[in-house]
Amino acid sequence: MYNNFEFSVIFSCGEHRRGVVTTPHGVVETPAFIFCGTKASVKGISPHQLRETKTSIILSNTYHLFSHPGSEYIKNRGGLHKFMGWDGPMFTDSGGFQIFSLGHGSVADEIKGRRSGQSMLSSIDDNGATFKSYWDGSMQLLTPEKSIQVQQDLGADLIVAFDECTPFHSDKAYTEQSMERSHRWEKRSLDEFIRGDDGSQAMYGIIQGGVHADLRKRSAEFVSSQPFFATAIGGTLGSHKSQMMEVVEMAMNGLDKSRPIHLLGIGGISDIFNGIALGIDTFDCVHPTRIARHGGALVKAKYRDSASREHINLKRSQYKDDDSPIEPDCDCPSCRIFSRAYLHYLLKANELLALQAIAVHNIRFMNRLMSAIRFSLENQRVAEERSIWC
Ligand SMILES: [Zn+2]
Repeated sequence: MYNNFEFSVIFSCGEHRRGVVTTPHGVVETPAFIFCGTKASVKGISPHQLRETKTSIILSNTYHLFSHPGSEYIKNRGGLHKFMGWDGPMFTDSGGFQIFSLGHGSVADEIKGRRSGQSMLSSIDDNGATFKSYWDGSMQLLTPEKSIQVQQDLGADLIVAFDECTPFHSDKAYTEQSMERSHRWEKRSLDEFIRGDDGSQAMYGIIQGGVHADLRKRSAEFVSSQPFFATAIGGTLGSHKSQMMEVVEMAMNGLDKSRPIHLLGIGGISDIFNGIALGIDTFDCVHPTRIARHGGALVKAKYRDSASREHINLKRSQYKDDDSPIEPDCDCPSCRIFSRAYLHYLLKANELLALQAIAVHNIRFMNRLMSAIRFSLENQRVAEERSIWC
């Protein structure tokens, strides 16, 4: 298994490490950030722009593509790479996170411990989860086998075992029960993966166990004992930032560290520095492209207008007469030609170009950040680098 894949750590110091994940569609240098192209598109950004901003890997969501247009449709168009025109490494999740975040709350935030809302999840049993399609409201069943078949149809390089994403408000008894179910589902995912394996994909196992150290350790040991290519840390990471890293640390105990380690759904700059200090190799989050749609541009510490945010909001009136680029030292296409004043004007005029231009900057910003992190790891000056970006 995984003959066309490889993970090698090329430098490590303490828990910090720099590595390379090799896939049939190219290599991903780690630590790396994976950009979300939820519905087979990184919103408003073309594959050409992804390349131009030095993006190495993107992610699509099984839940959305399963609901519409369906994985068979995409398979018949030659698979996800060909369908969306992206020929680099690609990752799909199992669909579990979206189903359960919709089930236990209106948005993914609830899983991470922050919000609650309407239920879309109809029922869950050992077979799988029944939920309402976001597309047409029809009832759909996703099982571990189905999730893997869908991900095999889509054809991303890196795929994920199906799990139950336990929400933050669950008590320990339910969290344990749910973790055991996830483990059973992960075994079934592996069996299904092996049945259809043609060498073009590699699979991640997922660690659950909520905010409980003993459960996280057990889950890490279980996932490490199974023939997964890599490991993802999923589920709730607590209700605040300091708890987030405590929970990640719990999951790192008992983990096979020869495999790549992904932290699901986390993408704040300081969170990334905290994550790499614990040995995390890859991150993903909608944050950089989502804030762009609201005028939020990521900037290094010296360009911020508020100590509490890692971005500036170009809608604010203070940028109306600001003729400088988002970041004077950024090499992205937007910073080379557009001023903050122009972007401010475009936002006020509801021009689509603003959203695209800011998203291009944010994507390039994240790629510059990850590149700077990799460089600083080898030069053992991560703390100095952190003070520039945080
Ligand atoms: Zn820029």
